[in-house]
Amino acid sequence: MKATPTQRREFLKAGCAALAMIPVIALSGRAAAATNAAMRSSLKYQDKPEGDKQCSNCMHFVPGKTATANGGCKLMPGDTEISPHGYCVGWTKK
Ligand code: SF4
Repeated sequence: MKATPTQRREFLKAGCAALAMIPVIALSGRAAAATNAAMRSSLKYQDKPEGDKQCSNCMHFVPGKTATANGGCKLMPGDTEISPHGYCVGWTKK
């Protein structure tokens, strides 16, 4: 069966729409576990506490789903891998 010009156009449109979604899917997948390397570096983030100072008792910490799950930090936009037991020089008592 030979495709009409209209069918061909519809097929191409659908293909372009599918291709256009690939970066969106890739980015949203990455957003689930993202780190903000630049801010981590400038704030000297570490995955362990500094004495009794740690993210879980810092006013900038955004808790994860559970008390032990990684969360976010108001000083590190887009970073979802902040450990509750982490620390950085931006630590401020909650
Ligand atoms: S400012 Fe630093 S110590 Fe406080 S939650 Fe963010 S990463 Fe943790």
